[in-house]
Amino acid sequence: MSIETLTAAVRNIPDFPIKGIQFKDITTLFQSPSHLKELSDILYEKYKNKGITKVVGIESRGFFLGPQLAVRLNAGFVPIRKPGKLPYKVIEERYTKEYGEDAIQIHEDALTEDDVVLIHDDLLATGGTMVAAHKLVKKMGVKKVYINFLIELEALNGRSLFPEEVELETILKFE
Ligand code: IMP
Repeated sequence: MSIETLTAAVRNIPDFPIKGIQFKDITTLFQSPSHLKELSDILYEKYKNKGITKVVGIESRGFFLGPQLAVRLNAGFVPIRKPGKLPYKVIEERYTKEYGEDAIQIHEDALTEDDVVLIHDDLLATGGTMVAAHKLVKKMGVKKVYINFLIELEALNGRSLFPEEVELETILKFE
């Protein structure tokens, strides 16, 4: 299946959740068995030889493909969540969004210095969420970090927030 076919299966929802936003709805992509299998295969092929020991998924759409990718890579799965959701001791990273502050958290014992980590989320917009997630994972002293998104909104240039050496890959690109 081509990248164009996968891209065409993403549904655009104008003015969701607020006026002016063109929301990329990935449920249409995921509900098709053949599209879902193709996405899973693309991710697996990209990361199968990187020695990844943990896939970190960002709440909530990073939880869709993150765990199954972890299974295929023989890696563990670790959630990054919004404050108040994780039950044990956490490490937190705050970041600025368009309207005010936000924060994300990870369990303090979820990663070790032996881990090679793939952080996965569905969509790169401004990049604020992933920059915070990347800082959080780096703080834990892991061996190496890869970053992956299903979708990149190229016009927002979120990619530019990451240093050159960061290995960031996206699968489907929108202007
Ligand atoms: P950023 O921090 O501006 O890059 O926003 C990325 C985060 O917002 C991700 O966790 C996405 O799940 C979510 N997000 C922003 N826009 C969309 C969209 O159009 N579709 C799905 N998720 C989105």
